Amino acid sequence: MVACPCEVCASTDPKDKRLRSSILVQSPSTTLVIDTTPDFRYQMLRAGVRRLDAVIYTHPHKDHLAGLDDVRAYNFFQHRAMPLYANEMTQEAIIREFPYAFADVKYPGIPDLELHLIDKEPFTIGDITFIPIQVWHLKMPVLGFRFGDFTYITDANRIDDAEKEKVRGSRHIVLNALRHEKHLSHFSLLEAIAQVEELGVPQSWFTHISHQLGRHADIEPTLPSGMHLAYDGLVLDI
Ligand SMILES: [Zn+2]
Ligand SMILES: [Zn+2]
Repeated sequence: MVACPCEVCASTDPKDKRLRSSILVQSPSTTLVIDTTPDFRYQMLRAGVRRLDAVIYTHPHKDHLAGLDDVRAYNFFQHRAMPLYANEMTQEAIIREFPYAFADVKYPGIPDLELHLIDKEPFTIGDITFIPIQVWHLKMPVLGFRFGDFTYITDANRIDDAEKEKVRGSRHIVLNALRHEKHLSHFSLLEAIAQVEELGVPQSWFTHISHQLGRHADIEPTLPSGMHLAYDGLVLDI
């Protein structure tokens, strides 16, 4: 956290250097990201991502959307608009927060965006089919996504029973766990652990971690078997 002197923010352990949450999904033919955080540009530079076929959005909060402008580098090298897959609420925010990208007369060099509407129906990008899972972020519906036996859910504090059914049978889940104390719109660590146990997913990785959760090296050994703290740069082969 900016300006914070706590032991996590002052830590020199790379696993304590937590940028905002998103994931890169790669198959032999398709590369995409879920969310464009305010750190999107640096995350793409750091991971050396030379090609990006699409962006999928979970919800329109700034920490998941603000980096969108920087897809223009991919427009430049790929000579095409960037497909954005988002629900109606997130599309409205994209148009409201990046109005210059949708102006009738466009300034040169601005991002070239192509909106694709998603809701609860499965959709396919390249060779990857995504099943949306609608979860609750206090009162805001947020989309999680399952592809194959992998499920990604961020910014949730409640999951309806019918949506839990879509997660069951996954081998891996990435789930948000903000901190130890209860929070009004995010799972706490204990709530996330209970949720994973209820869902019966054998391998879990907690994400969207606040500095308030403590240092990676202190928390990781305390987690039940099969559960881990995710960290920046983590790569999973699924
Ligand atoms: Zn959020
Ligand atoms: Zn968030």
